[in-house]
Amino acid sequence: MSSLDDLYRRVIMDHYQKPKHRGHFDESEAITVNMNNPTCGDRIQIQLKIEDGKIKDARFEGDGCSISMASASMMTDAIIGMDVEEAMKLKEIFLSMVQGMDYEQDEIDLGDIEALQGVSKFPSRVKCAALAWKAMERGVRL
Ligand code: ZN
Repeated sequence: MSSLDDLYRRVIMDHYQKPKHRGHFDESEAITVNMNNPTCGDRIQIQLKIEDGKIKDARFEGDGCSISMASASMMTDAIIGMDVEEAMKLKEIFLSMVQGMDYEQDEIDLGDIEALQGVSKFPSRVKCAALAWKAMERGVRL
């Protein structure tokens, strides 16, 4: 086990145990999307406040495995303050990364999200990692 794997595992567990932006907006004030991942049993709700093409704020709730919850915490943390376009680009990069495909590392600072790159070695977990991002995408398109 490399020390990089250890570092990534710590980052993931940190988001899982101390999630960021976990909570709930009044549904009249935010876009609300519920999604689940039946293969693992992960359930998630993503809420977005979008104004003038910008993601002003985001929250998530749900329960599921550490990968799905950590990913939601990282995702909400990353997209708050981004333009919708930028968030969609980050989503593409993220999905490529967890599927083990090539991605442009230099375009956006991935920050903690990079810790999930090891998921690409476990195809059954890709849906866990992708859940929050798919929900965010659906919300943006509503
Ligand atoms: Zn899962």
